[in-house]
Amino acid sequence: MRGVAAMVILRDGRFDMSDFIDETDAREQFVLNASIQNARDRAAAVGQKWFKSCQLCSDPTVDGAAYCDDDCLIEARRERAVRDKQFAQRR
Ligand SMILES: [Zn+2]
Repeated sequence: MRGVAAMVILRDGRFDMSDFIDETDAREQFVLNASIQNARDRAAAVGQKWFKSCQLCSDPTVDGAAYCDDDCLIEARRERAVRDKQFAQRR
């Protein structure tokens, strides 16, 4: 591993881990960015919308989901069902 090779042994025998940690952080960031891009590409391929925030409460969402949790998803479905019912009654 290149990260291990970047460790420096100090004169008193201790290891300087900072280069190793910097490289590990960079790798984690690279994998995270690639995962996000993959998820966006998949969503675009199937025509899904990518959401940054919950469509009910505006909290941030994970992986482009429309709702932040099951409670918001259920509440949004309930509200949509009520709206559909009210609209159907007006006709
Ligand atoms: Zn929410």
